[in-house]
Amino acid sequence: MLLDSQRRLEAEEKLLAKLSSRSDLAKPEAEYGKWWEEEEEKLKNMGDAAKYGSNEKYRDFRQQVWEVTHEGEAMPALFGDANQEGSDEELVISGARLTYKCPITTTWLNDPVSSKTCKHSFSRDAITDYLRAQRGECACPVGGCSRRIRAQDLYADRVLERKVARHLRQLEAEESAATYTVVR
Ligand SMILES: [Zn+2]
Repeated sequence: MLLDSQRRLEAEEKLLAKLSSRSDLAKPEAEYGKWWEEEEEKLKNMGDAAKYGSNEKYRDFRQQVWEVTHEGEAMPALFGDANQEGSDEELVISGARLTYKCPITTTWLNDPVSSKTCKHSFSRDAITDYLRAQRGECACPVGGCSRRIRAQDLYADRVLERKVARHLRQLEAEESAATYTVVR
């Protein structure tokens, strides 16, 4: 793995620095070989968390992979303990709900529009009816949001529309994969 070679390179640089600071050694090559063996042993015994959890490149990489496969959701901790995994999962699920469901209908966003003032999104029909019932201006229906919404603050959110569509396709794919497993 690329990371392993990066670790080895770092270790090697460290050893070379150590070596050049020691002019007293009779057999530098032999010493170097010995140090290197110790480093290798250390690397081998390192757990994944110690080896990769602290590596920024690896974290960035994980983050990128996560964003491609779980758009709009928060990434759970890299190496959380087993007890916390459940709560991470719940956070992710509620995050997806907030992002892809209309707060008025509580179903998947349909023809989503977003507010320019607070960035909250709604199914077009739902917020249109809601606004009409409130005579053209309403408090944002999202709990905890204190912004007001008027029809002219709303814009068709094509980006979000594509995200919802992709999310639904993903769910469908997962569902059919699950069905396939059951049938087998
Ligand atoms: Zn809002």
